[in-house]
Amino acid sequence: MLRHVVVVGASAAGLSAAESLRSKGYDGKLTLIGEEPHPPYDRPPLTKQVLSGVWEPERVVLRDQTAISKLDADVRLGQTAVGLDVSQRTLRLGPRTAGPDPARREPQSGQAGTGVEQLAFDGLVIATGVRARRLPGSELAGVHTVRTLDDALALRSALLSGPRVVVVGAGFLGTEVAAAARGLGLDVTLVDPGPAPLQRQFGVRVADLVAQTHSDHGVRLRMNSGVTRFVSTEGRVTGVELTDRTVLAADVVVVAIGAVPATEWLADSRLPIGDGLECDATCRAAPGIYAAGDVASWYNPRFDRRMRVEHRLNATEQGSAVAANLLGADQPFAPVPYFWSDQYDVRLQAYGIFPRDATTTVVHGDPSDRRFAVAYVENGTVVGVLGWNCPPRDLRALRQLVADRAPDLVGR
Ligand SMILES: Cc1cc2nc3c(=O)[nH]c(=O)nc-3n(C[C@H](O)[C@H](O)[C@H](O)COP(=O)(O)OP(=O)(O)OC[C@H]3O[C@@H](n4cnc5c(N)ncnc54)[C@H](O)[C@@H]3O)c2cc1C
Repeated sequence: MLRHVVVVGASAAGLSAAESLRSKGYDGKLTLIGEEPHPPYDRPPLTKQVLSGVWEPERVVLRDQTAISKLDADVRLGQTAVGLDVSQRTLRLGPRTAGPDPARREPQSGQAGTGVEQLAFDGLVIATGVRARRLPGSELAGVHTVRTLDDALALRSALLSGPRVVVVGAGFLGTEVAAAARGLGLDVTLVDPGPAPLQRQFGVRVADLVAQTHSDHGVRLRMNSGVTRFVSTEGRVTGVELTDRTVLAADVVVVAIGAVPATEWLADSRLPIGDGLECDATCRAAPGIYAAGDVASWYNPRFDRRMRVEHRLNATEQGSAVAANLLGADQPFAPVPYFWSDQYDVRLQAYGIFPRDATTTVVHGDPSDRRFAVAYVENGTVVGVLGWNCPPRDLRALRQLVADRAPDLVGR
């Protein structure tokens, strides 16, 4: 019987796991450990409403103090898990900090040191998410990443004082930052080694439209361009040098080149670490130890493959699923992943997976009307649908094709 469950990572997945444990009847001791000083908050608005100034930062908080109290948990914010002993079933915790942005600290080594505390558990949920990938020179003033609330607030304040913005990386975050910065009337250049924004995620057909949309809104695109270095004066960035030796002048540089799973603290644990913490289909990494959210790599039987999903809804669903499994359900976690992105007046919504070699078919509307949906077909099966300003009801119907792993009958 479980007497003490510890959840490491106090964000979307960790909160969901903690709440689900309680709602499913777990009445033992519960500890929620979060490295950031903030109570659990929502990240998607950071590059949308927070950066654009539409929301005050307080609105991103996921639960008020009353709801957190109802968890009847020992909530330890500003504390980092630095190591895990699987056989002894103990965690090592670093001292609590009150720093403004612990996520910017160097990852801890996992070695016990002064102030390190041991915490015993019977059940463990690992929900430590990912950390922003950085480039050499990221320590320069004026160079930003966006993963945390503090990152977003620092970037927002920089955008208000610097007119020339270079965004490095044209994935979801980079394109959203570019859109928000244009919304503030700034001079924005988007740089990426790929041929078009979001091409790696959604293929050529959609990426060309994304490129067109950003150009229409005045973003300068420097595609097929790598970054060789940041140019600086007295510790402050002044430009970005590209592989063709062009230097783009910049007051603010945003590095949005992806993220790495926050598993450094598990290095000595002997848990299987690959691209994330590797789990089985039930999200179990070892007996009584589960992973949820961006950090979890698990085998999704619906798509017959291992995956790691950096999507907001997945964090909640997987947190809930691991709570059930920790309490004995032992069910595979087989979702249809869902993601959305807001840029200008465009809402992209995606269900499923989008393999590079998938073929694409327009299954709803017309791209020239900027309101359509595309199905992605792999080995004769629909594995993904992407909606571009597609009415939710139509998109939900198309989602069913993915859930059913429908044969390629669409678009007839
Ligand atoms: C700016 C931004 C915009 C996004 N927009 C969208 C969107 O539009 N749509 C969408 O579907 N998804 C979006 N996402 C992705 C979504 O927010 C994530 O999938 C979700 O936050 C994952 O939740 P998580 O709990 O797994 O991880 P996280 O939210 O990353 O939380 C992990 C927590 O664990 C803490 N932690 C890490 N290591 C330790 C440790 N050793 N000890 C203690 N605590 C630790 C971290 O500090 C962090 O607070 C966005 C993400 C970002 C950053």
